[in-house]
Amino acid sequence: MDDVDQLRRFLFENEPLRGHWVRLEESWLAARTHQSLPPAVNRLLGEALAAVSLLAAALKFRGTLTLQVTGGGSLSLLIAQATHDQHLRGIAQLREDTPVPVEEDFRALVGEGRLVVTVDAGDGVPPWQGIVPLSGNTLSECLESYFETSEQLPTRLVLSANEHRAGGILLQKLPTPSDAGEAAEGHVRDVWDEAALFLKTVQPHELLDAPLEPLLQVVFGEHDLRLFEPDRVRFQCRCDEERVASLLQGLGEAEVRSVLEEQGMVTVTCEFCQRPYRYDAIDVAQLFAVAPLPEVPGSLN
Ligand SMILES: [Zn+2]
Repeated sequence: MDDVDQLRRFLFENEPLRGHWVRLEESWLAARTHQSLPPAVNRLLGEALAAVSLLAAALKFRGTLTLQVTGGGSLSLLIAQATHDQHLRGIAQLREDTPVPVEEDFRALVGEGRLVVTVDAGDGVPPWQGIVPLSGNTLSECLESYFETSEQLPTRLVLSANEHRAGGILLQKLPTPSDAGEAAEGHVRDVWDEAALFLKTVQPHELLDAPLEPLLQVVFGEHDLRLFEPDRVRFQCRCDEERVASLLQGLGEAEVRSVLEEQGMVTVTCEFCQRPYRYDAIDVAQLFAVAPLPEVPGSLN
């Protein structure tokens, strides 16, 4: 089976509905290879990675989309990121003093908190951000309420993850033309309600293992669907020397030198991919010798 690490887009030929399907395998394993997480947290991270892949496909942008869950339960932070070209990465962090529920219980895991979706196009364009409270009983429900409030686009999601795979389907109702008339709009509403209902019957094992085309046929069988060519999804970290150098420069020379003195070497380890960046005395000297002075516009006035 080679339909893993793929994102597929589909359209309803005769209705203003569209969807995206994703299944992660290699990319999911690579994303969590350095993280040792309890099963319930692991599954949530997998679902979040499938979700950002679907969101990145559904929202038009170039750059990075970040889903951040800040929880008040045993999960303190979850970050999942996707670029417009489907490079994924993610991390989950636990609160040490709070036991992780053994059962898969999203509410107990996250407690009170919020979900933030940030789209960063880079190049000095201010990032765009949507925030919703973690009010749903699943990550899917929280994301649906995000779409409701921030995108005003009716959206339904199903997500699932296990040790080996993560996957999901996102379904959206597109705006009907304003001159469509009441009957046409009523019809689309009925089609949407029914399709959304059928989507929610998709089982986790179907999301993770069932071949895509027969699955879509079973779920949306009475409609003609058009399935587009797959996009490849892969794990790729965005860390690099330049980012780490500017992080250290931001800490300040005194701080970095004191770590150097104490440990003989400054090591920064990327949280997403565990790649270590090492700086010896010469590297540190270079770091601060070349550090540009901050530009403060108008400071000469
Ligand atoms: Zn990294």
